[in-house]
Formats: sequence, structure tokens, C-alpha cells
Amino acid sequence: MSETAKASKRILSGMQPTGTSGLHIGNLEGALRNWVRLQDESTLYCCIVDWHSLTTRYADTQQLWEACLILAAEYIAAGIDPKRSMVFIQSQVKEHAELHLLLSMITPLGWLERVPTFKEKRELISDKGEGDESISYGLLGYPCLQSADILLYRPLGVPVGKDQAAHLELSREICRRFNHLYGPVFPEPKSIISEVTAVVPGLDGRKMSKSYGNAIYLSDSADVVADKVKNAFTTTTKLRKTDPGVPETCVVCQLRRVYDPEGYSTSWDEDRAGIRGCMQSKKELTEILNTALEPIRQRRAELLSDKGELENILKDGADRARETAVETMDLVRKAMGLR
Ligand code: ADP
Repeated sequence: MSETAKASKRILSGMQPTGTSGLHIGNLEGALRNWVRLQDESTLYCCIVDWHSLTTRYADTQQLWEACLILAAEYIAAGIDPKRSMVFIQSQVKEHAELHLLLSMITPLGWLERVPTFKEKRELISDKGEGDESISYGLLGYPCLQSADILLYRPLGVPVGKDQAAHLELSREICRRFNHLYGPVFPEPKSIISEVTAVVPGLDGRKMSKSYGNAIYLSDSADVVADKVKNAFTTTTKLRKTDPGVPETCVVCQLRRVYDPEGYSTSWDEDRAGIRGCMQSKKELTEILNTALEPIRQRRAELLSDKGELENILKDGADRARETAVETMDLVRKAMGLR
């Protein structure tokens, strides 16, 4: 596709820097792989949303910068090309803050209070006995900031995981409200849901998530992966090799399907028929996973060994992202009667 045609197809994607463990293979298969594919047909803005991480983790910011660098290294190691795409940190493009402020003026409070993730976080915090003071104004305004992140680039769409298709709806409502009040500045961003993206199960059979402690990380060494797979849940009623397995509910079989889409079905048949044991399946899965993850691990380590260069890449990404952000803010200010 020509560069001009690509430029008109801007896409915004982003993740939070949530600590030094970085991304897990659920994030990789459920989100990042899809972004990598989208680079061929669109201009990708690949944001590291550090301000978002402050909505809940504002008290401990010591590792925030390190977490941003790790996330940048993981984006790139997974295949985001920082020359073609904008890899940048949200807080380095201050226009995100200005648009957030303006959107916060027009967003009804009730819309924010009804957001399920806000309600859940509020309950979680009160369950922990931390009291209402730990629920900040910023946490309530999270969807406004997210809307600003998206609308700032007037993108065609936003890639969303199958598990979070509803999240974009509020941004679309805020977008419609802005356009209704001040004229059509923003195209309504579409959800881009990839058909090939899988929901990756965690080692305990729940969805893989950093909050559940059931994840395999891109930072895990080959030995750590082997250990984690050894302890993964399989079919609970399959105690001996000859007992029939149920691959549909076995974590090891599910992960095999994600990482060996061509070859997994024979192993599933053997599992069902009781002619293979869980040990064999785990051993094979470990090899398959480590083969797939090794190049990413190596590239990640290389990038993190030169933080200065990584910071240059992020600065360059922010400079290029800002070009569009500045244009958008001119349109926004004019539409709102600001100068
Ligand atoms: P976590 O659940 O670990 O906190 P996030 O909610 O930060 O993950 O998700 C970041 C991105 O990764 C989202 O696009 C989400 O759809 C995707 N993602 C997270 N976990 C999984 C999973 N287990 N399978 C597929 N995609 C996932």
C-alpha cells in the first residue's frame, strides 16, 4: 500500500506500563501480534500510557520509567517497527493532557460512574479496606483520558482484544458529544477486532492475566517457562497416561493450539485417546513455546542493554506523534472557540 494511502489510515493502540515483569504471552497473542500485522496497511501509533498507570498506582512511581522502557523494548522485540510506527510515551506528548482536560468538561459524570471497570476497581479497593481516599479523581476520569489518547490522532480505529470490545464505546459517545456540540472534528473510531486473535488461558485455566499470577512473561527464561508449564493445569480426571484427556479444557492443549496451529490436532487426538500423557504434552509445549519466544527474548535483552538508544527511539516516536497531535489540537481549539 502507498505511503499516502497508509497515512490516511491511522490506528491508535496502547498498553500500560505495569511493572518490571512486562508483558505476558496473552498480551502478545491477544494484542501485540495484531498491531504488528496492522503496520502493513496503516500508520500505527503505539502508545505507552504511563499516565493511565497512575490512576491506581500513583503512590509508587519509582519503577515507572523502567517499566516504560521495558514495554517499549517488548513492543519492538515483538515486531513493532519504530521507523514505520510511532512508538512513544503518552506523557511525552503533552497534547494528551490538554485534550483530556477539554473532554472532561463535556463528559457527564454519570457516564463515568457507570463504567464497569470503575465500579470493579472501587469494589476491589474497598474490599482491601483501603477506604475511599484511594479512589482518585483521575481513576474516575480514566475513560476521558483514554478518549483523549484515541481522538488526538483522529484514527480510523483502535485494535481491541476480544475481551474488551465494549471499552471503546464510551470513547465513541464522547466523540459524538464533542462533534454534536462543536462540529465534526473527530471521525468516530471503529473497533478493530482481529478474527485470528486468541484469548490465551493462564496456567491455572483462568484467562491469563498479570493480576492472577498465572502468566508466562516475555521476560521469563527458558527454564522458567519449563517450570511454569510443568505446573500448568491439565485435565483434572487424567491421572494416568491412559486416562482420556479433554483438550478443550486443558491449559497445555490450549496453549499448544495457539503456538502450533498447524500441528496441534494430532496431539489433541492422542490426548483424548489416552495414548499420550500430560508429561509428554508439557515437554513438547515447552519446546514449542521456547522456540517461539527465544528471538523475542533476545531482541528484548539487546534493546534493554542500550537504554540511551531506546530513549532516542521513544523521543523520535513522540516527536512524530506530536505532529498529528498538534494539528488535532488546533482543530479542537478552533471548534471550541479557544485560541
Ligand atoms: P492483564 O489482564 O494482564 O491486566 P491487560 O488488561 O493490561 O492485561 O491487557 C492488555 C492487552 O492484552 C489487551 O489488549 C487485552 O485484550 C490483551 N490481553 C490480556 N490478556 C489476554 C489474554 N489472556 N488473552 C488474549 N489477550 C489478552
